[in-house]
Order: sequence, then structure tokens, then C-alpha cells
Amino acid sequence: MKAVAVFPGKADSMHLADLPEPSIDDVPDGRGVLVEVLRVGVDGTDEEINAGEYGAAPEGYDFLVTGHESFGRVLEVGPNVGDLRPGDHVTATVRRPGDSIYDLIGAYDMTTDETYYERGINLLHGFLTERYVEDPEYIVKVPAALKEVGVLMEPVSIVEKGVEQAYEIQRRLGIWRPRRAAVVGAGSLGLLATLILRLHGLEVTTLARTDPPTLNSELVEALDARYESTNELPIPQAAEKYGPFDLIFEATGASSVAFEGMEALGKNGVLVLTGISGADRTIEVPGDRILNGFVLGNKVVVGTVNANRSHFERGVQDVALAEARYPGWLGRLLTHPVRGLENYGEMVRLLNEEQGAIKVFAEVADL
Ligand code: BGC
Ligand code: ZN
Repeated sequence: MKAVAVFPGKADSMHLADLPEPSIDDVPDGRGVLVEVLRVGVDGTDEEINAGEYGAAPEGYDFLVTGHESFGRVLEVGPNVGDLRPGDHVTATVRRPGDSIYDLIGAYDMTTDETYYERGINLLHGFLTERYVEDPEYIVKVPAALKEVGVLMEPVSIVEKGVEQAYEIQRRLGIWRPRRAAVVGAGSLGLLATLILRLHGLEVTTLARTDPPTLNSELVEALDARYESTNELPIPQAAEKYGPFDLIFEATGASSVAFEGMEALGKNGVLVLTGISGADRTIEVPGDRILNGFVLGNKVVVGTVNANRSHFERGVQDVALAEARYPGWLGRLLTHPVRGLENYGEMVRLLNEEQGAIKVFAEVADL
């Protein structure tokens, strides 16, 4: 069976690999779910993995099958699989539990283990292949009516977790009625964050480097949110004009943006950091100003990574709501389909070079 793989640590090593055919018996106790892969999205993490900056192969392999944003259809289930049937559309979570107390209660996205296991990223093969087998614990059903946008479920789950973290933290305030939010970054994650925050009823300002009009700025405006270029309006100035921001969602991975977000955050506000930097830069920041603002304003900054089953489930609900409220909007994010696993070269090229791409994804089989 074909799969798209890299040699971790080696730049531009993406290639076609051969994997043995999976079987429901690969999962013990009759709990195997065999899934046919339909679509797989790629993102900055895949770009870094292919640049050799990130990722590790599973034990016993010198290659890592990539792809962590999956959408598929159930082909066969073991005798002890409850609520899944052949023909069901599904997505899968990315991380698998380790040993920490968080892993033991299903919050594997909160693991404190040094080594973590993520399909398509770290020590486990991913989904850029024809079929995979998995325990139902890690498989989340997606209604057939949402199949056109099902490949977005994993990035949606990342946003759901970040927003959930913000609301959980803000319970400290006894009452929190956020009104204004800023999203920094208008790539797929920033756009999805804009959507989810709009669904929560917030007034959203989305900031990104590129001057409008672009497809990204149009998509922001289609949600009745505001798009501003940081060339024209740096983040702290945006806070003066459109704030105070009760919540800032950072989706760029630039550390300078993280600190500007700290400067721009309103009193009692929460800043959610989701971007990961591939670099190792040192930057200068107005430390005293930020410190005083945080202490005197009771502010919080939180980092968030990955997502567990509950965030995928919440994501399915919000995607359904989004389709009802902003019909067709999610589909417009799917800008660059690439047909077939064997066209991985084109997929990598689009991922690295195509500025206009919002979501590049492989069409592995017909929906
Ligand atoms: C994935 C997350 C993962 C993170 C770190 C992201 O691209 O979407 O699931 O936890 O990378 O590896
Ligand atoms: Zn990702």
C-alpha cells in the first residue's frame, strides 16, 4: 500500500513509501477500525517536517509517513467496536496517550511526558496513505452532510481547544462576557479562529501582514469580521482603535507577535498562543511595560497545542453550525486540492511556495 513519507531530519526527503496492508486485528480485543483515507490536509508542521526540522520515525522504521489532518470512511470494524459502521465518515485525533496523569484521563493533549506520540509527526505513522487502522477511542464520526469540509476537522479541533482554554481560564472572573477579540494571522488557523469566535458572538478583528484585498481578507469580511493589515495598523494600535480586546488568538508562530499581543491585550483579558516557531530567534521587547500591564490588568497568557477527542466533537458541532450560518464559507478554505498520493511533489511545492494557498490537501480517494 502506498504512503507519503519523509526521512526525519533530512531536508526535502518526501517520497513514496510502501506500507503493509493494515488489518482490524492490528488493534487488540476486537477494537480495530479500518478506515479508507479520502482526504488529508497539510500545514506548517508538514512543511517543517519536510524541511528536516521536526518529526521522528516510528520504532523499527527509517521513514515517517506524514499527514495528521485526516478524513476518511470506515471500511470494516472489529466485533467490539460500538458506534461505528462501515460507510461512516470519520476523522482521527493526532496524539496518542503516554504515561502522565493527563494521558490517563483522556487529556493526552495536556501530556507532561517528555516524549509524545503524534500520528504523522512524532514516532507514529500518519494518514497520507490508502488505509489505516485505529482504536475507536481516537476516531470521531463526521456526518455525511459535512463530508465536503471534513478534512478541516483537525485544524478546527486546534482552534476549539484554544478557545475552550480561554473560557476555562476566564471562569476565574466569576463573570466573563467577552465582547471584542483579535485574531493574529489569517492563514487556515487564523481564519478558523475568526469563524469560531464569531460563532461565539464576539466582534472580531483579524490582523495579518498582507494588505487587502485577498481571498483571506474577503473570507474574514464574509463572517462580518474586520480585516486589517499590520503594515497599516500594528497590533497595539489596533487595540487602541478596535479594542479593548478581551481575547487575542495568536496563530502566526512569530514570537514578536506573541509579545505584541501581550501589549495589546485588554484588562482581565486572555491571550491564546497557538503558533510554533521553527526558528531560534532572540528579540527585544518592552519588558517593563508588558509586566506592569499584566500585573495591573490581571491578564493571562496561555499556550495551547494539540487537541483531544472532546475538541474534535465540539468541532463537528461548530462546523455544522458554520455551514448553517455561513453556507459554503468553509469550503472556500479548500483552495488547493492535489489528486493522488503520487502527486506529493506538487503538494509540497504548493505548501512551500503558493502564497495564495489557504489549505493544500491530498485527494486520496473520491468522497
Ligand atoms: C498539529 C498538532 C500537534 C502540533 C505539534 C500541529 O501542526 O496540528 O496536532 O500537536 O503540530 O506537533
Ligand atoms: Zn497541524
